[in-house]
Amino acid sequence: MSTQPKPSNPLKAVRGTRDLLPPETALWNRIEQTAREVFARYGFGEIRTPIFEATELFARGVGEETDIVSKEMYTWEDRARAQSEKAQSLTLRPENTAGVVRAYIEHKLGERGDLQKLYYIGPQFRRERPQRGRYRQFWQIGVEVLGPVSSGSESPVRDAEVLEMLATLLNELGVKNWRLELNSVGSAEDRKRYLDILRKALAPIKHQMSEDNQRRAETNPLRIFDSKDPNDQALVYALPVIGDYLDESSRNHFAQVQAALVACGVPFTVNPRLVRGLDYYTRTTFEFTVPDGSGLGTQNALLGGGRYDGLSEMLGGPKAPGIGFAIGEDRLILVLQEQDGRKAVDAPHPEWMWAKKLDAYIAPIGAECNAAALALARELRRTGLSVEVGDGTFRLKKSFDAADKVARNIVILGDDEVASGTATVKTFATGEQTKVARGELGKFLSPAPQAEGS
Ligand code: AMP
Repeated sequence: MSTQPKPSNPLKAVRGTRDLLPPETALWNRIEQTAREVFARYGFGEIRTPIFEATELFARGVGEETDIVSKEMYTWEDRARAQSEKAQSLTLRPENTAGVVRAYIEHKLGERGDLQKLYYIGPQFRRERPQRGRYRQFWQIGVEVLGPVSSGSESPVRDAEVLEMLATLLNELGVKNWRLELNSVGSAEDRKRYLDILRKALAPIKHQMSEDNQRRAETNPLRIFDSKDPNDQALVYALPVIGDYLDESSRNHFAQVQAALVACGVPFTVNPRLVRGLDYYTRTTFEFTVPDGSGLGTQNALLGGGRYDGLSEMLGGPKAPGIGFAIGEDRLILVLQEQDGRKAVDAPHPEWMWAKKLDAYIAPIGAECNAAALALARELRRTGLSVEVGDGTFRLKKSFDAADKVARNIVILGDDEVASGTATVKTFATGEQTKVARGELGKFLSPAPQAEGS
């Protein structure tokens, strides 16, 4: 019996954060690669902004009264390290649009005159109550299209193009049954007019609402529509909706977005209560949802986005209307796994995760063949083949079992083979076993061209 004391309480990942492990990470990579390919076809370039920013950026951009800024941010006072530095409040980014617009202003991208089409992929941080599909560190794949008005950044064509691109991306990823919900929250002026009406409608009923909604009714009434409080739903449903208070230009803009979507054949439904949880949105707002039972538990929003025509000015920049979205990558994974009907942990290299089997597993027979096996692996890997090396102390059956799990072929390397400059290859799919000359091995093990990408 061991007398070593047991380590107490091994450390775990922080609540709401997760480790992503292979083989599931193959699916993450595949999604990101597909997104990059689709974005490139539409003329987007990648932007990478810092993971933390000045707290003020989110307070000003996202809005003080939003759930994100008022409750969910990871904020700390960053100490000065030198006389020349000031202590400042920093925050782990809860979303990436504010950071992208900050970078747009800082690098004077507007002066280039053309439309900036940018995408990002990276982690975001919100101190939400963790549950299935909701984490405290989660990944977003997002896009922002913005520029001076002369670049056409305000055009409804931009909105429709972004939505059509999303439909294409979800279809290429194989997401089934997605639904696009669309609304217009109007211009800043529309919003002002509508908020007066909303406040008046709330005045006689707000005391019947939850404490949170009573507070919102005072400070930021639009946010009441984000509330999921079941007791307030009937009251919220009876409130006037912004769509009825748009001016002609906003109504026209929204009509043109819808007409372009119809022309492209992208199906959508107008949801007049979709206002989204961030203050910077103007005009078009949207969400792509999946039906209940798609793997997201009580969440059903796969992605969300909208127009933010005044955000650049809110952050001290030039006029730069824009539109963007953020896909919840964690949720995309859950939906694809659920729709596939299998779980990540069931099989080590399942095809549905697009993790291809290795080309070869080299099984040295006897420890004295280990070095030769490693040299052969080096030779084959240098030709671009994917190879794993076993261990000469394994029994042959163990080598075969290990090889069958991860590779298409097993390459047996014993003393005889080393001496004669050959190797014995068994291809699992056909069961055929062949002696192959060393010089021919690379070609023999290469996947047939028609098998590529299958
Ligand atoms: P938002 O930035 O709030 O508009 O969210 C855009 C998308 O990010 C949502 O539709 C979700 O798919 C995803 N998302 C937001 N918050 C979380 C979270 N805490 N965990 C996982 N995904 C999230």
